[in-house]
Amino acid sequence: MQKPKSKSAAGTAASAGRDAPSRLRTTARRPRYSAAEVREIFRRFAVQRPEPKGELEHVNAFTLLVAVVLSAQATDAGVNKATRPLFAVADTPEKMLALGEVRLGDYVKTIGLWRNKTKNVLALSEALIRDHGGEVPADRNALTKLPGVGRKTANVVLNMAFGQPTLAVDTHVFRIGNRLGLAPGKTPDEVEAAFLRIIPDEYLRHAHHWLILHGRYVCKARKPECQACVIADLCKAAEKTSAIPAPLVELAPLPADGTVGGD
Ligand code: SF4
Repeated sequence: MQKPKSKSAAGTAASAGRDAPSRLRTTARRPRYSAAEVREIFRRFAVQRPEPKGELEHVNAFTLLVAVVLSAQATDAGVNKATRPLFAVADTPEKMLALGEVRLGDYVKTIGLWRNKTKNVLALSEALIRDHGGEVPADRNALTKLPGVGRKTANVVLNMAFGQPTLAVDTHVFRIGNRLGLAPGKTPDEVEAAFLRIIPDEYLRHAHHWLILHGRYVCKARKPECQACVIADLCKAAEKTSAIPAPLVELAPLPADGTVGGD
């Protein structure tokens, strides 16, 4: 999973009850979309993909956590290729730790920044055994204390492994928030807070996947494919090239290897 470039944090507000970054609950910008428009956007995403799935392969919460740590600045397809044989032999913190640095490195050396990631995976496995009985905690603070685990990774794990309504902001979510003016912000934290403020409760659980998939396959970074976009009539992006929405139909599931050409 690739992440947006900006880093520092500054303020927007988040609705009560949702765990937005606490330092962001100060100022809010005037929304460019009405509540009805936002609801309609997510309704259409829900029709397209009623049960969206992430593309990182995993067999349990631990392997999901490892896959997300390995996916920083790498493609999901590249991570899946490396983790398929790895998770067949190491699907618990104990087994991962037993592999050791050299053998684990052999499995993941096709992934960018693998040396550092290898160290983090071993260190987080050790911390899970020492502090959490070998289980992945369903708690943001505990997760972000693990080596190599930031807010985005914690949000992905909380959402996918534990069903919590979190919103991880990767490069696609960040771009959509800003390009459409749906959830503008200079930092991932700002965009997260802005999205959390506007997404209706019933759509929050899957919003992360819908936004990623929309950004990866339709609202692409270099050239958005507006003719294929189901929200083209609602979109207020300056770059949009069509105002006619694509037919709203449920899409076929993506291939398991995540090789449809997205980044
Ligand atoms: S109309 Fe174009 S710019 Fe707007 S969301 Fe769709 S693909 Fe992106």
